[in-house]
Amino acid sequence: MESGKRARVEAWLRYGADLELGPYYRNRAATASGPPPDANATSQSSEVARPAMSPAARTPSTVSAVGLPLATASPVTVASVRSSAAVPFAQAPSLFEASDRIEDDTIQLIRETIGDCTRCKLHKARTNIVFGVGSVKAELVFVGEGPGHDEDIKGEPFVGRAGKLLTQMIEAMGLRREDVYICNVVKCRPPENRLPEKEEITTCSPFLFRQIDVIRPKVICALGSCASQTLLQTTQGISRFRGEWFDFRGSKLIATYHPAYLLRNPSAKSEVWKDLQKVMAVLGLQPKRK
Ligand code: URA
Repeated sequence: MESGKRARVEAWLRYGADLELGPYYRNRAATASGPPPDANATSQSSEVARPAMSPAARTPSTVSAVGLPLATASPVTVASVRSSAAVPFAQAPSLFEASDRIEDDTIQLIRETIGDCTRCKLHKARTNIVFGVGSVKAELVFVGEGPGHDEDIKGEPFVGRAGKLLTQMIEAMGLRREDVYICNVVKCRPPENRLPEKEEITTCSPFLFRQIDVIRPKVICALGSCASQTLLQTTQGISRFRGEWFDFRGSKLIATYHPAYLLRNPSAKSEVWKDLQKVMAVLGLQPKRK
């Protein structure tokens, strides 16, 4: 193999080892289909339909084209419970999903593995890694896009204006912030609050998947396009599938608008409240009395 290519493959394998994924592969025979940009913006930037995360054919095999052992992957569990023909969700494993769950994984271990991360360029401008906060026994996990300015300074997700609105939403559901778990797709603030880039998401999201695997919540609420598209491996705009239930690695997943979008579009709050009521019904929660 030519040396540049070899170096790239080796770097990729080192990265996998860093994440403690063991042998893995990605079938790149993917089709990237995407809708036009969607109007539902996320926290720090307006939403743009991005290329598919990793839609790939699932062809079980034991040896890769480059002679590497392939993961005998457990089936991907991202599947629409209520099938929606208009929403082409990937039926394929992402990098992480191509590996089994990590046995005896813990939140502490994931944080230790991240360490003082320099895996992507987001590390250059960050103040703090924003790992996640809340109960590791939570039945409900909220996933956002990535830290903003306030989160970067504090090292805690959703503590700025959008965070305050999220806290109000959680309390309206009859919960406290500490009853749920809150984290993001990327753990470092994208400069100028731009959208996280595909490579940054691909680098960081395996840690999110590990967090979800450790917590095993009953419900995951994906906030905004970035979180929803990353978890569901789709490029569809969130408004196409918001409020629908999906299965994600044994948890129920629902996507709703990002609180920052609600700050700019308060009229969408009623839609989000409908989504949260669905979550409450699954979790047997009563709305907070005023
Ligand atoms: N927006 C996000 O998506 N995450 C945060 O932590 C804060 C704002």
